[in-house]
Amino acid sequence: MIEIREGYRAAWVGRHPAGDLRCRPDGAVEYDTGRPGVTCEVVYADGVNGYVVEGGDGRFRTTWTELDCALSMAHLRQKIRCYPVVRSGCWQPDNSMSVRRASGPRPRRGRYSTVAVNGMWFAQFGYSTGSPENGYRRQMEGHRASFIAFNGRLPVGGTVDHHCKNPPCVNPGHLGEATSAENVARELPGAGYGVVRKAGLDDALAALAARFNNNRS
Ligand SMILES: [Zn+2]
Repeated sequence: MIEIREGYRAAWVGRHPAGDLRCRPDGAVEYDTGRPGVTCEVVYADGVNGYVVEGGDGRFRTTWTELDCALSMAHLRQKIRCYPVVRSGCWQPDNSMSVRRASGPRPRRGRYSTVAVNGMWFAQFGYSTGSPENGYRRQMEGHRASFIAFNGRLPVGGTVDHHCKNPPCVNPGHLGEATSAENVARELPGAGYGVVRKAGLDDALAALAARFNNNRS
């Protein structure tokens, strides 16, 4: 049975756009948005490793030693799951979300999403805590927050990579870890991008010169 502190309950139950936190008869705690197609995030004690956070779809089971952290991660995961799903399967903010301001302004094409996270919990991953004035909230790159929340750890090598090549996407199934060098190489196909462009320019100049010479003769 999970005991939720009264202060936590008052702050989080029933009035957050990411969903209601409620205790189930079996002692687990769940976040349920009530939205069709968005699975619950469930937190339960496993007695050995601490607290497990698990999506209703059975993917991304993560373990946390602190209850506060587990609840916070469940909450963040639920918030991320509420991002609209686009046709490619990517989860990304749209106009409706910028109105709700749940994720900050709509990212421009090619920009990352941002998401508000609780810096007190993210401090354990080496991030700054924000400040008491703003309630220890801070903005974080959405894909990075998503990776940490759904995998329960920092990415190996430090960089989160979009397999879908869509920077605003926060679908944890589309995110992987890559070294910076790998990431850059993948984002810019052709470490040779500049070379290709230069070659194209040279060709164009040669063609121009040929035309010019033909006209002269
Ligand atoms: Zn994607």
